[in-house]
Parts: sequence; C-alpha cells; structure tokens
Amino acid sequence: VAISDGCDLCGRIERTERGENPFSVVRTATGYVNLADVQYHEGYTVFVAKRCVAELHELPDSERDEFLHEMALVAEAVFDAFQPRKLNYELLGNGAPHLHWHLFPRHADDARLGGPVWKDPGFLGALERGPVDPARLVPLKLRLLPALERRHLTIECRFE
Ligand SMILES: [Zn+2]
Repeated sequence: VAISDGCDLCGRIERTERGENPFSVVRTATGYVNLADVQYHEGYTVFVAKRCVAELHELPDSERDEFLHEMALVAEAVFDAFQPRKLNYELLGNGAPHLHWHLFPRHADDARLGGPVWKDPGFLGALERGPVDPARLVPLKLRLLPALERRHLTIECRFE
C-alpha cells in the first residue's frame, strides 16, 4: 500500500501500524476503522482507505467496490453499536485528500438533527478543542468491535 509523505492520514496509518494510535479499532481488507478525534456525536467513526488516493475513481474498480461494500458494513456496525436516530455518511477530503468516510451517528438528543454537523457550533467547538482523552475511547471500542465482528467483514488486525 502506497504511503504518501506529508499526508496526515498516511501518518495516522503509520502510527496505527506501530501501535501508537489509540483511535484505531481494526484494519479491514481495504481500510482502517478509527474512532474520530472528536466524540461530540458519540460513536463518530472514520473509515480510512488503505490506499492514498483523493477520489473514488482513482481506486482500481474491484478495490473501489470492496471499499464501498466494507464502508456500508462498517456503517451498519456503527449503527448497531451506537443506536442513533440517523446515520450520516460523508466523503469529503478537502482538507485531507486521502479517501476517508465520516460516519456520524445522529442521536435523538442531537439539537441539530435536521441539518449537517458542519453547521452545529457545538461540534465545531469540539473540533477546535481537539482530540478527546484516549481513556474515553475504551468503552466506545468495546461497543464497536463486537458490532464489526458480527458483520461479514474481513478483519485483518485488531488494535487494542
Ligand atoms: Zn495518504
């Protein structure tokens, strides 16, 4: 898998593989399931492609199809684990041009449930405050990992 110098997400993958990224949950056939830095929406998960490309069409067809299939299974696992009212899927990559899906559980108590997370000042404030204390990730991983394991997903590696 190609790692690009200067890519923030490739840097995270390298830290994951060295066992230094507490946000990582599993590696699948095509990507990495990570809890997001910010947990304003409990269970917010990011599915990062193994391959460092900016656009879906830059993946070989078979890899693109498998990546999308795995993303749907990861999303289903997030839903299973965190029981939101609604799940949001976003593939943006303006700031970090390395394919990564944002999977946002929108919970019943979400004050901005009718709109995009990016218009929620509470979420934007949480982003500014920076990553959550890794201790907070432990109970979330305990919910997400078994939900991932219940799907027909290729789990190549689990990260403690
Ligand atoms: Zn990258």
